[in-house]
Amino acid sequence: MAQNTLKRLYVDELRDIYDAEKQLIKALPEMAEAATSRELRSGFEKHLEQTKEHAKRLEQIFGELGEKPAGKKCKAMQGLVAEGSEMIEEDFEGEVKDAGLISAAQRVEHYEIAAYGTVRNFATVLGEQNAVSLLEKTLHEEKETDEALTELSDGINAEAASHESEEQVKERPTTNTKAKAARSR
Ligand code: FE
Ligand code: FE
Repeated sequence: MAQNTLKRLYVDELRDIYDAEKQLIKALPEMAEAATSRELRSGFEKHLEQTKEHAKRLEQIFGELGEKPAGKKCKAMQGLVAEGSEMIEEDFEGEVKDAGLISAAQRVEHYEIAAYGTVRNFATVLGEQNAVSLLEKTLHEEKETDEALTELSDGINAEAASHESEEQVKERPTTNTKAKAARSR
């Protein structure tokens, strides 16, 4: 019979987030490649390196628990990565595309923040002190990444919005022609 323990739930959730990190290690290079802004691209590259470290920290925790890290598919991350791929495929360009990539990436970070917050709290009540500090480090980096994305989006969204007004300018001659036509009637 399966054990009804918090420890087992803790290990299950660690496996879920471990699979999530593994999926991200594959997805982040594609996000970086799709980015137009050099800052956004290097942000994704930096987070890729951090993500590899996140997976290693989890491996260390599994090692200390005497458990295997494999065995779970994170379905939420599959969905989030699929949405990221959709954004990569969309025919948006430049800053608008970047704004979309940031949107997808922040959804990922928020999922990870929720997951790490939970396992960190489980580790705390289970008295897994070393795991608490490792999970805390990762949680902190996920939050920093989310904040960095928000900061980047300030400039990128403004640029994206200014393309909007450029397009309105391009459309104006048509409106003027119509107006002239109306006046000459
Ligand atoms: Fe991570
Ligand atoms: Fe992350």
